[in-house]
Amino acid sequence: MGKVLIIGGGASGRVATHKAAQIPEVFSDITLASRSLEKPYLIQAEVREKRGRDINVEQVDADQTSEVVNLINKTKPEVVIHVALPYQNFPIMDACLETGVHYIDTATPEVREKPGFDYKGQWAYDDKFKEKGLMALLGCGFDPGVTSVYTAYAKKHFLDKIQFLDILDCNAGSHGRTFATNFDPEINIREITLPPRHYDKKKGGWVQTPSIVDRDSIHQTFDFPVTGKKEAYLLYHEELESLVEHYPEIERARFWMTFGENYLSHLRAFIKYGVNSSTPLEFDSNEVSPKEMIKRISETSQRGLFFLNHLMFDKIGLLSEEKIKFSSNRISPVVMLGAVLPKPETLGSGYMGKTVIGNIMWGEFHGEPRSVYIYNVSDHAKCFQEIGCQGISYTAALPSVIGAKMIMTGEWKGSGVFNLEQLDPDHFMRDMDRYGLPWEVEEFSRKFIKDFGD
Ligand code: NDP
Repeated sequence: MGKVLIIGGGASGRVATHKAAQIPEVFSDITLASRSLEKPYLIQAEVREKRGRDINVEQVDADQTSEVVNLINKTKPEVVIHVALPYQNFPIMDACLETGVHYIDTATPEVREKPGFDYKGQWAYDDKFKEKGLMALLGCGFDPGVTSVYTAYAKKHFLDKIQFLDILDCNAGSHGRTFATNFDPEINIREITLPPRHYDKKKGGWVQTPSIVDRDSIHQTFDFPVTGKKEAYLLYHEELESLVEHYPEIERARFWMTFGENYLSHLRAFIKYGVNSSTPLEFDSNEVSPKEMIKRISETSQRGLFFLNHLMFDKIGLLSEEKIKFSSNRISPVVMLGAVLPKPETLGSGYMGKTVIGNIMWGEFHGEPRSVYIYNVSDHAKCFQEIGCQGISYTAALPSVIGAKMIMTGEWKGSGVFNLEQLDPDHFMRDMDRYGLPWEVEEFSRKFIKDFGD
């Protein structure tokens, strides 16, 4: 039994808090802290009503290490679960080191000014965590996270050698909104518009491919279990970096995600007009309307008033004249976009359909070729019924709570920074089944390789 501190009171924070509250034998004391208090207080009331438990709520600006240090000293957790934004990974890691607390996150760190991410900065913290005898679990969400555990599980039980790895993320759900992202919109748009990469030893390592919005993007129809045929696009995802590092036998590793035409056409428009840009523009005040931002982009890019007639932008609120307050007068277009798009925690009601996320792994077992597919199916409506959230927040946040449980029960021991494929997968897999992310394993025929891949 012990204390946990959850930082980030958004969609993932809500799920993490509810899930921790469902496991009182491990999480005897829960604190939820976030930048603003409105959502944490709402979650506190929900948890009291639904789970009959009282949680503590605190305010913190996790960009400031000193604030996190003070909060940890006040609440004295064993583990910090960081489900705020990737901008806060390093300040929270530093605070954990200073106070002697284990650390968990669900995404690689990012800096505001330049989209892009990799694990190298966090891997460089390995010695510091080792010196303190602390564990840091990096990327303990679903993807990254569970996809790494699936890889470790396949390697332990089904394959002596993994040669080819394809991670497939299918969201066949529908939220009924004009355009929305399933996790933080600013982070989602920044990540999704990066150039896709995959690993192919035969081609010399990392290979860059056309963006998912390009005409020559790489995509194919995949017949997913339960949801059926969907179009999946080649994308870069952070677990590819760590899996290739920790399993040098892997010859090819790729990540595929399904997208609908509506999502892609919005993304194309954002890119075309620079609405996804992370470069800040300076305004006279920190209160700016979306229309002012669009006008400014239009002036700088010489795209003229075409913007203002753009039905698509109008529909998602980008032409609104209502002012929005930001923390500074230097505001980037993608921050404005994040501010007008629906918040992920508002999508749950009426979200129908399922997600299917998993790994197909090809290799050898006892000298014979073998392929296995390990996956989870989650239902948006069921997640909403249980926690009041949509399936992506559920699948992202529950693994972080299981990771905290692994540390607090001593089922995962060690010191240093870890990607999940470096740890024994069995108890984690048991707990995913137990707490709401059941999984299936299927054998795949060799023929399937020809159907799926180049
Ligand atoms: P949300 O936007 O719903 O929540 C983010 C929360 O972080 C908000 O409550 C926000 O506070 C809080 N926050 C932002 N800045 C700070 C700060 N400086 N200090 C304290 N709190 C802060 O996003 P999600 O919950 O949907 O996603 C969170 C993150 O989870 C994503 O950005 C992504 O990195 C990761 N993720 C990982 C997945 C995986 O499978 N591995 C999948 C999906 C997401 P406020 O309410 O005041 O704005």
